[in-house]
Amino acid sequence: MIGLELMVEAADAASVIQTICVDEDTDYTDASAGNQFTGTSNDAYGIHLKISDLTASTSAWVWALTSTGCYTGVADDSHSYKIEAATTAQIVDTYTNTIYVQDKDGNTLVTTLVNNFTPHNGTNNYSIGPSSYVDILAATSFALKSHTGIISGQSFYFRYDSDGTHGNDYRADLGFGWIKEADLKFVDAHEFGHQIFDAANGWDGNNKNYTADLDDCSGAYSAVQDKHQMNSKEFSSTGAIEGVASFYAALAFNSDGSNAACSYANYNGHNLVDWDPNTSSPNNQKSDDAQYLSVQDVFNCEDGWTYSEGGVDKYTVNAADFLGQNCLNNGAVNHRATQYDFVRAFWDFHTDSGSSVSLSNIMTMWANADPDTWNAAGTGTSSDFPATRLQTAATGLSLSTWNNKAATNGTDR
Ligand SMILES: [Zn+2]
Repeated sequence: MIGLELMVEAADAASVIQTICVDEDTDYTDASAGNQFTGTSNDAYGIHLKISDLTASTSAWVWALTSTGCYTGVADDSHSYKIEAATTAQIVDTYTNTIYVQDKDGNTLVTTLVNNFTPHNGTNNYSIGPSSYVDILAATSFALKSHTGIISGQSFYFRYDSDGTHGNDYRADLGFGWIKEADLKFVDAHEFGHQIFDAANGWDGNNKNYTADLDDCSGAYSAVQDKHQMNSKEFSSTGAIEGVASFYAALAFNSDGSNAACSYANYNGHNLVDWDPNTSSPNNQKSDDAQYLSVQDVFNCEDGWTYSEGGVDKYTVNAADFLGQNCLNNGAVNHRATQYDFVRAFWDFHTDSGSSVSLSNIMTMWANADPDTWNAAGTGTSSDFPATRLQTAATGLSLSTWNNKAATNGTDR
């Protein structure tokens, strides 16, 4: 039990044991994607509470327990209390890490859960949200609680892009991540994935380059696409850095046991996707996909799958090496990859029977590959390109299955 000394003088005849439990009401558009964290109401793991004794004019900040979202303390039933919750969560598992969700100016939000509360022996339950801030906090704290890896003693900062001018963008240089589409839990966790893996690498930042020529991979989008897609042809640096972030999001919301399935939600506005590589009639393709992109796309990052529109099967995506199958008819090959291929390479590395490499080992391998200094662009032959850096890091840690997963999924180019 923590902080029993809270807010009242020594226990006396008027003391009661009061438990405060908080859950986060969320309104994710993608609540049903993935087989974990599918509900709308979730324990507020480790949320920061402020308990003010209005009678004694004292106040204290306390953390709810990571396991339950509850805080228990001694209170005085002759006093009244005000209870507030901040959009901050401290996840205490093997390690202690803290997540801060802030407004666009960097202020942490505090919501009053109850004013003039009279305590009693027992439990009181409160809800916070739904709001964009709570959506971000709930998704990221759930992810961190369930998948910590080697992360220890770190603070993570997010700012909700309430006026839509920043988008979803991890800014290593600023020390926080912008999130615009807070109602998409996979977007929240993807942006967190960038921070988690950057933290594993000592917060050194990511060396990536979005300007690779798309060649024939996704020609229909060449006019509108200025950023990465899930399956667009990119420099491997971008494929790996985006792929490892999406891998973390996939990990957060899917059971990750041996040979586990993997459901991932992908969106218009973040990681635009064009699963149909048919460029023979780009106008039709573009028209189809403009319509298609107005809805979310849930795809499988474990097996092959077929995507359909309006109940009509459009295209079958094979289970391995999307780039090799669809994007290499012409144009550059070396040091090119898709984010999608990297998601599957890491997923297979982590979940395939006979591989089952832990998140901690994947994080260490990532850090040893030094993604802040690898060669982000080009077609050269140096050992500093991402595929070789990752291969060398895996070999150094005796993680022998990486080469096979990279070859199968085409991230070894
Ligand atoms: Zn990203």
